[in-house]
Amino acid sequence: MVMFRPPRPARSPGQFRDMNATQLFCPTCKRAMPVREKVALYLPTGVLYHYVCTQCDAVLGKKEDGDSSRLG
Ligand SMILES: [Zn+2]
Repeated sequence: MVMFRPPRPARSPGQFRDMNATQLFCPTCKRAMPVREKVALYLPTGVLYHYVCTQCDAVLGKKEDGDSSRLG
């Protein structure tokens, strides 16, 4: 007997997140600094965030939030 399973919706568990960058090296402060997320741009595929230094507001990194399940 063959059992057919119903197709499951392609969803990620949700707790699979990117690196949680709480501290990044700041070349202006010359040390690792705590950063905060700042919305930089709204993309058709999601939102682009900048990680900015809490001390000097320099952009230390960025991440794109949205449909990251597609590659290429
Ligand atoms: Zn800084």
